[in-house]
Amino acid sequence: MKDKKEILALNAFALESADLSTFEDNLAELLRRREQIFGSLSVLFYQRPLHIVSARGCSILAADGTRYLDFYNNVPSVGHCHPRVTKAVCDQIQRLNINTRYLYRILNDYAEKLLSLFPPELSNLVLTCTGSESNDLALRIVRYFTKGEGFIVSSNAYHGNTAAVTEVSPASYRQGSLPRYVRTVPPPDPLYYGSDVGKGFAEAVAAEIQDLQQAGIPFAGLLVDTIFSSDGVYVDPPGFLQAAVDVVHEAGGLWIADEVQPGFGRTGTMWGFERHGVVPDLVTLGKPMGNGFPMAGIVTRPEYLRAFSEHFGYFNTFAGNPVAAAAGLAVLEVIEEEGLVENASCLGTKLRSWIQDLSTHYPVIGGVRGAGLYLGIDIVDPKDGRPDVRRATRIINALCEEKQILIGATGSLGHILKIRPPLCLQSPEAELFAEALEDVCRASL
Ligand code: PMP
Repeated sequence: MKDKKEILALNAFALESADLSTFEDNLAELLRRREQIFGSLSVLFYQRPLHIVSARGCSILAADGTRYLDFYNNVPSVGHCHPRVTKAVCDQIQRLNINTRYLYRILNDYAEKLLSLFPPELSNLVLTCTGSESNDLALRIVRYFTKGEGFIVSSNAYHGNTAAVTEVSPASYRQGSLPRYVRTVPPPDPLYYGSDVGKGFAEAVAAEIQDLQQAGIPFAGLLVDTIFSSDGVYVDPPGFLQAAVDVVHEAGGLWIADEVQPGFGRTGTMWGFERHGVVPDLVTLGKPMGNGFPMAGIVTRPEYLRAFSEHFGYFNTFAGNPVAAAAGLAVLEVIEEEGLVENASCLGTKLRSWIQDLSTHYPVIGGVRGAGLYLGIDIVDPKDGRPDVRRATRIINALCEEKQILIGATGSLGHILKIRPPLCLQSPEAELFAEALEDVCRASL
């Protein structure tokens, strides 16, 4: 697609086109130093990047004293700097932190609590430090178990940044093409599949499996984010993945559910795959798992790990260290005690219906999708209903600069607003967002 944007280009600050003379001195100086040190791989959000100093709950404080309402960040998922998590991390790092080749009780306590939240057949856990590492290892496990090579992903998928995972992340490509053993299917959007998304998606997966086989590439599996975040947030109808997973299994493949974005309550259920009513073969976890402490993992069946361990050992120095276990345990306790899954479901439903309502008054809103506190809002040209990337960019930056609310963009073109606040969001904050969105949509007509 000609206008397709690579994932890091979405909502990114462009130094080349910025007029630094309009920025305060200290911001311009920070930007220059950052660019000099990090070079062309440096990425920042917003036309006027934010210099931030602290955060709490859903609020981020900037260096100039401005407070921003965070409607974007899913790493500090139970709330920025949650006191329970910071205390658990501080207490543990003062007592013991070391690699995982020793016994320490807090790791077992954490792992058992985490696994109790999964279907019983998913009874083994591998810990890593990032979502990318989890997906990288999951690809290897699936390849050794199935003896296949080919993977199917959605056409704007993002699954991480290692060499292997970049190859199954079409959203990362600025140029060139995917390797021959990677096939893509369009995201589960009625635009591509008509009214029966589940059937259409399963047929598309079946066609790509056949294509791989015809090319002499044995099929290994299907890797999808269960909320299709980078494709533009697709969750409906509930259960639509079931038929595709059946097709994968019939062909001898396995299904990896990437829960790095939807996991830990975001979608109003603990895991995004619950919406599909089908148990994954492997689940990959990350981002919100330590509420900012880097931790990630894979939950799967013992037989897959056994098959892999016949070929390789796996050791990860930092994964599952005592501090990670303390952070992870505190996160699970907070989710449970503060009722954050229910909060995500309840406030997400309200927010979606308010935005739906706005769409009847403001034709720049072409539609709203999502589950729990992960919503995607299509921004379109009111004249012809076509995706309107420039207007979406204007709305994102107006929310930031005029309303002090942070959101982002998603989808292959970048015209979909990504709404993803911490799960401790309160009703008045949700209302504030809806009002601000109405104001900027009105102004953008
Ligand atoms: N999978 C998905 C769906 C993601 O969104 C991301 C990160 N954006 C990853 C995997 C990779 O996680 P990490 O950046 O922690 O390696």
